[in-house]
Amino acid sequence: MRIQILPSTIDENGRASKRQHLMSLVIDDRVAIDAGSLAFSCTDLQRSQIRDIILTHTHLDHIAGLPLFIDDLFSTLERPICVHATHEMIEILERNIFNWEVYPKFSELENDHGKVLEYREFEAGSHLSLDGLSVKSIPVNHQVNACGYVVEDGDIAIAITGDTAETDGFWAECNSTANLAAVFVECAFPNELDELAKVSCHLSPNRLGAELGKLTDENCKLYVINLKPMYRDKIIAQLANELPRAEILEVGRVYVL
Ligand SMILES: [Zn+2]
Repeated sequence: MRIQILPSTIDENGRASKRQHLMSLVIDDRVAIDAGSLAFSCTDLQRSQIRDIILTHTHLDHIAGLPLFIDDLFSTLERPICVHATHEMIEILERNIFNWEVYPKFSELENDHGKVLEYREFEAGSHLSLDGLSVKSIPVNHQVNACGYVVEDGDIAIAITGDTAETDGFWAECNSTANLAAVFVECAFPNELDELAKVSCHLSPNRLGAELGKLTDENCKLYVINLKPMYRDKIIAQLANELPRAEILEVGRVYVL
């Protein structure tokens, strides 16, 4: 399984930076989890192949690229972009984004081949089957309706928390998954902003440490994602001290698991 978190920010030399403002994780260049940076930094191959997008939740940093990704492809799509999301997430998108005021209501528009956006609604906790992948959704603990996922390709499995505070179901699902190769877990704030992490339903290194006590698999890789860019260096230093097992996922790099 090939995994890449797409870059979202450029540095002073115009190159992709390690700072992650937006979230979009691409699996095998053809399925995306979240669409934060999807339109901004995907490759031509990814743009031509990605037709399934699974959402963890509807916060802007996870959906910012979605309207533009569909817009870019509007006239050339031969099948619709399928957005896999819960009823609550779809309602939020339709009410606040695809409402003609912020962006066109793509769900009502067609090109020469038919629909350009199709919602595939699922219940949190259910299984999805798409493009050769088996995906289990797990409700997690964030400010809005949110899911984490365990994704299996018949060979290995990966798990991704999305944005979350303390949660149990996600870790239980990890513990019951065979061939779990890697867990991608958020850590948005440094320890000194623990109170902010708590009210915004995110994790800090301290809180992540407690969460990892719930993971029984001692061998799977543990990649930390979604570090708030302004606190990135602090979070990395604290994780190095407290959780040496955790590896900071390099934005833009392709990981083959
Ligand atoms: Zn969020």
